[in-house]
Amino acid sequence: AKQGGNSRFQFYVASIDQEIRERKQLEKDLSKAQANREFHLVYQPQINLENRRVIGAEALIRWEHPVRGLVPPDDFIPVAEVNGSIVEIGQWVLDQACWQAAQWAADGMPLRIAINLSAVQLRRDTIVDDILDTLERHSVPANRLELEVTETSFMTNLEDAVEKLHRLHQAGISIAVDDFGTGYSSLTYLKRMPVQHLKIDKQFIRDLLVNEDDTRIANTIIDLGRSLNLSVVAEGVETAEQEYYLTQRGCKLAQGYFFSKPLLPDDFETFVAGFHQK
Ligand code: C2E
Ligand code: CA
Ligand code: CA
Ligand code: CA
Repeated sequence: AKQGGNSRFQFYVASIDQEIRERKQLEKDLSKAQANREFHLVYQPQINLENRRVIGAEALIRWEHPVRGLVPPDDFIPVAEVNGSIVEIGQWVLDQACWQAAQWAADGMPLRIAINLSAVQLRRDTIVDDILDTLERHSVPANRLELEVTETSFMTNLEDAVEKLHRLHQAGISIAVDDFGTGYSSLTYLKRMPVQHLKIDKQFIRDLLVNEDDTRIANTIIDLGRSLNLSVVAEGVETAEQEYYLTQRGCKLAQGYFFSKPLLPDDFETFVAGFHQK
């Protein structure tokens, strides 16, 4: 028995060991990814449900690893947040998205671009200036940019987050609370934060018409948005039934595979032109 336990223990240690090695390798590859130009952005259209116009796009990062292929952001963003490389990656995202916004504006398509801002980025002392400088460098008006922040961003230092988001908002940038309802949801911060949008997480939209709890949660967020004068964005809309339900329930904005997957810039332009012709 002792023998068996021992070997099982060794097996366990070996698998942890391998996990650590894989993680180290991922970090190492991640540190070279930017210099090797392995990142790119895709853009998912955000739709105004009332008039069926594309009002903007959410920029989402993609990492094309030379060996592993496409690595999902959910696999590497958390790693980048722990080792701090999210700061550099996030600045690259901001820069790239602003460059794209300027391109689209020059092409007669002045859309708003939303980017995901990590809690780690928001904690930086220079973040407000970094964002404003980037907009200026690309001559993008601040109201063309939206920042998606999660509830975790408010947890570590509420005062600090309030102060920074106020400065960003005063400059004209809009703020959305991402994954609303999944984390630390408190009405206190909603009152104090200069936020304009709530994004209903896709986990509540997936079974919207099947699971009563999800229907109630979505309804509650829509009503909360209305009473606090915040516009609500439903994320992960995949079916016509979901769109119909959300529209008649008073949700004004949506994104999801039903309209479009996140797209490369050229495909995004084609999508917008086609969508507006319908
Ligand atoms: P998120 O911000 O909540 O983004 C929504 C995710 O849902 C995206 O996954 C998007 O591709 C996916 N999605 C959109 N429509 C649908 C749909 O109809 N059905 C389903 N099942 N999924 C849909 P993605 O691109 O894999 O990104 C995952 C997460 O990684 C994001 O979640 C965000 O938290 C993070 N992320 C992505 N890009 C960035 C970035 O540039 N910076 C930071 N800090 N985080 C990012
Ligand atoms: Ca997001
Ligand atoms: Ca989400
Ligand atoms: Ca073009």
